Amino acid sequence: MPVHRNKTYTSTCCYCGVGCGVKITLDKNENIAVEGDKDHPVNHGMLCSKGLNLQYTVNDKSDRLLYPQMRYSKSMPLQRVSWDDALNRTAAVFKTFIDKYGPDSVAFYASGQCLTEEYYVINKLIKGFIGSNNIDTNSRLCMSSAVTAYKMALGEDSVPICYDDIELADCFFVTGANPAWCHPILWRRVEAHKAAHPEVKLIIVDPRVTDSCGLADLHLQINPGTDVTLNHAIGRVLIERNYIDTDFIDQRTEGFEAYQKRVFERTLKESAAICGVTVAEIELAASYIGNAKGFLTMWTMGLNQSSIGVNKNLSLINLNLITGHIGKPGSGPFSLTGQPNAMGGREVGGLANLLPAHRDLLNETHRKEVQQFWGGTTISGKVGLTATEMFEALNDGRLKAIWILCTNPITSLPNARFAEQALKKAKFVVVQEITDKAETLVYADVILPAAAWTEKEGTMTNSERRISHLQKVIEPPGEALPDAEIICRFATKMGYKGFTYKSTEDIYKEHTKLTYRSSININGLDYKQIDDCKTVQWPYNKKTESGTKRLFTNHLFHTPSKKAIIHSPSDELKSELPDEDFPFILTTGRVRDQWHTMSKTGKVSKLKQHIKHAFLEIHPIDAALLNISDNQVLVVRSRRGEVQVKSKVSATIKQGVVFLPMHWGKILGSDLNRANNITSTIIDPISKEPDFKYCAVSVEKYKKD
Ligand code: SF4
Repeated sequence: MPVHRNKTYTSTCCYCGVGCGVKITLDKNENIAVEGDKDHPVNHGMLCSKGLNLQYTVNDKSDRLLYPQMRYSKSMPLQRVSWDDALNRTAAVFKTFIDKYGPDSVAFYASGQCLTEEYYVINKLIKGFIGSNNIDTNSRLCMSSAVTAYKMALGEDSVPICYDDIELADCFFVTGANPAWCHPILWRRVEAHKAAHPEVKLIIVDPRVTDSCGLADLHLQINPGTDVTLNHAIGRVLIERNYIDTDFIDQRTEGFEAYQKRVFERTLKESAAICGVTVAEIELAASYIGNAKGFLTMWTMGLNQSSIGVNKNLSLINLNLITGHIGKPGSGPFSLTGQPNAMGGREVGGLANLLPAHRDLLNETHRKEVQQFWGGTTISGKVGLTATEMFEALNDGRLKAIWILCTNPITSLPNARFAEQALKKAKFVVVQEITDKAETLVYADVILPAAAWTEKEGTMTNSERRISHLQKVIEPPGEALPDAEIICRFATKMGYKGFTYKSTEDIYKEHTKLTYRSSININGLDYKQIDDCKTVQWPYNKKTESGTKRLFTNHLFHTPSKKAIIHSPSDELKSELPDEDFPFILTTGRVRDQWHTMSKTGKVSKLKQHIKHAFLEIHPIDAALLNISDNQVLVVRSRRGEVQVKSKVSATIKQGVVFLPMHWGKILGSDLNRANNITSTIIDPISKEPDFKYCAVSVEKYKKD
């Protein structure tokens, strides 16, 4: 590809789901420079610390995988091979397992950082041609509870809001999220709106005092896991004080009577005691919501990553439904997506229980429709293995081969030691990666070098359904290839027709055709249209040009009755509770300048300055009782393992609760720092999302033997 040094390329930041637009230029050494795109509707030129340092992750190629590697047996070393050799052998092994043990003996484990086209071809390959639904991604670890709750409440996984609703809201309810650190550019919009309109109310719900709380009118520092109780209590006050929208409830929802019964099961005093807040605080939150013209609920992992993640989501969406605050400017339930293209994965049905364009895997008509379109084998009606289930199946031998791409599960999965053990037991492991630092590589039988951000073309969809086109800027190093091309080459080696695309855009066009008559509907959309409009929000048609800002403004919900469903979820927590041996509740989360398992941000020295090492945040009273002072090495244990990190004694956390950041592992530090050595194996029974925010641990000072 000729390098255009005088050209300015457009792309989208590859970190969080905010989806900030960037402009990229090249210097004479073909190093890239990145700046915020002033004309982009999401960020208007702003970038956070991670976005501002994007170029360093790309320009530093010292850790890049440059050529395919393979070994013929577990005892042999990996050696350099050609692409043909690597893919021929992989195809032969996959065929052998599929013939001998059936299609469910193989699986793909991908990432919310894959581009939509990549997701699309992997999903097509495994569901439409191999005949298994064993595809899941690390999005299972971050937003599957929100996906499930949207489907249950609104009929489909449709985020109804747009970011412009931020400037139209006069009450924000931010729960289980620290957007000041994790979605910074969106947060700057909230800050600017509140600075211009001080009457705007901001409620934050979080067991920790985070940077986001600095802006709050009310911080409800609840006990971990009590979100459903709190939301129900607020719902109760909204009903008692007639802050609800009875016309909306009557005409556009069902289930209110059962909900009313549910929220009146506990007195406010009981709810307040369970949550660890006061009755007055609950009433104040309800009065802020009740008096709002625009009410925006915003949430992320604190609600999603829970043993009752779906219930937490449903109880929150209820607050929008009973007040009629959905489909109106400044209003709606807004799940903040963690990863840059988790939404694109949802569009193409890239999870073990989904089909493209919001079709239902359990619906035979939908399966046939997709099968006919793809022209492959019968699509199985059996839901595939989800993220944690895949590793259980590797461990007990049901799953023989796994293909891991664009994610580092050894650090990111709960109970990481078990994930390591499962990969050790796997008969065949393919790792498709950009970096030689990924912890999965030591278990790989085949390593496939992938192109990174800016080295390939494709699309991503951000948290507000906004699709952007990421241009290719530079060539990948060595023999690395775009992920979609690797999958298509492999599919062709397997003998499957329908993977010989002329371009990435051809894949995209095929995907858009499958959205015809679905709620996503981007049929007819192409890269030129996206570029011409800068971005497009689904659903799109030629008349709307840049798509649809807000859903459910006057049209019906996607449920069979066309009404939104007010569910009445239980608040009973299913997590691992503290006891005498493990008396603390552990919650995990992110820090401002790191991303996931640090395979990219860990390369940037500037980003390491903010927080230099892993730590355990512990309340001063708990620390005093354990004779712990600041910056001492601690051992944190659960029933699954231990972590050694330094103490950070701080009143920002509730007594009895401790916090560990989730980023550290072997990439930058050691596996002793890895939070997931000790996290819980419990998952939400419906969404299958892990309970990262709650498990029982003990804490003590490190003692040398
Ligand atoms: Fe990138 Fe998210 Fe920061 Fe925007 S807010 S620059 S998308 S990390």
